[in-house]
Amino acid sequence: AKHAGRGRAMHYETLMDDDRDERREMEDALRAAVVRGEIDVVFQPIVKARGREICGVEALARWYRGGTVSVPPDVFIPLAEATGVIDVLGPLVLRRACEAARNWPEIGVSINVSPAQFRNPYFPDQALGIIEAAGIEPSRVTLEITEGYFIQNPGRAKLVMDRLKAGGVRIALDDFGAGFSSIGYLIRFGFDRLKIDRSLTIAGEQSAKGGAMLQATVALAASFDMPVTAEGVETAEQAAFLHLCGCDQLQGYFFARPMSEKAIGELLAPPTDV
Ligand code: C2E
Ligand code: CA
Ligand code: CA
Ligand code: CA
Repeated sequence: AKHAGRGRAMHYETLMDDDRDERREMEDALRAAVVRGEIDVVFQPIVKARGREICGVEALARWYRGGTVSVPPDVFIPLAEATGVIDVLGPLVLRRACEAARNWPEIGVSINVSPAQFRNPYFPDQALGIIEAAGIEPSRVTLEITEGYFIQNPGRAKLVMDRLKAGGVRIALDDFGAGFSSIGYLIRFGFDRLKIDRSLTIAGEQSAKGGAMLQATVALAASFDMPVTAEGVETAEQAAFLHLCGCDQLQGYFFARPMSEKAIGELLAPPTDV
């Protein structure tokens, strides 16, 4: 932009200002929504690969800005992380999910935890406190975390993880296969479960190499007592192949989309005819 004509450079600057204003506006709106408790939580069913019954749900945050426009989590979660809003949003989602899970005693509940939360020294006590206050067994709760912080600060990440595990909570490694780390490195941390990213689910079915990679990953995880959930399952063929590879749990649009707390309740206990 330096060598561009004056008009062009100005246009560029104006764009930057617009971007900044828009970002600031969204940041304020997000902060206000979180403070007012206007963040919704939906739940996506997770099924057993064998038998296909629901064995858990993953809680996913939703923000309907101004009550109507839905801002995707891939946009507002990074914004919440960058601005510190995650310190309020994270616990809010955890509390809502645990309170909902109180009505579903038969199944587990998974909640996403961002590295920014994991970095917070108060996080383990806070999370365990929320779970206890909600009155559900910690062993029903799985916290999902991506590999990033475990690569960045392995010692510290392991400490936080062990505190949570000592409290009875399970820890799953989320989005495996989307990053660059090998399962060989990550396995030593002692995650309770591995979640295979949608990209690997797709790759596994697309080519013989992809299939072999998927199979090897699941087998290695299994040899370290780490069961595997496959995410982003969209077809019957994928489901069958992933089951064959040894994944014990499956999640994806093929089975169910994320849905309201009420819809999950109806799914688990269908209204009886009278
Ligand atoms: P994730 O943890 O990997 O969650 C799975 C995402 O894949 C969800 O997107 C879900 O709706 C979507 N998904 C599920 N099945 C399928 C499928 O078959 N096909 C496709 N194409 N997509 C599927 P969502 O709800 O938009 O969330 C995106 C990401 O935002 C999540 O990815 C997670 O990283 C983050 N996120 C969402 N809620 C929270 C939260 O409460 N806290 C934190 N820290 N992160 C969250
Ligand atoms: Ca997740
Ligand atoms: Ca994931
Ligand atoms: Ca993700």
